[in-house]
Amino acid sequence: MQRVRAFMLLGGKCYKCPENRMQTLELEHINDNGAEERRTIGRGNVMAKEALKRPNDFQLLCGSCHNLKTSGYESVEVEFQKE
Ligand SMILES: [Zn+2]
Repeated sequence: MQRVRAFMLLGGKCYKCPENRMQTLELEHINDNGAEERRTIGRGNVMAKEALKRPNDFQLLCGSCHNLKTSGYESVEVEFQKE
């Protein structure tokens, strides 16, 4: 399965945290022109195929880290670590 191969190629874990359960991991294009890219190469298997072709352009993110990234709260990570 292409998706699995792409995931393995990209290290098999979240780029930001130790999460490695495949169900929670998503392929993410690094140069985040997000919507643009998605429109041109589509999602799912197409995305996996692209990642196999040029793995340097992709990274894996788990659902949580992806949410943080898209919500723009990534930069307040330090706040969470106080306490
Ligand atoms: Zn993560």
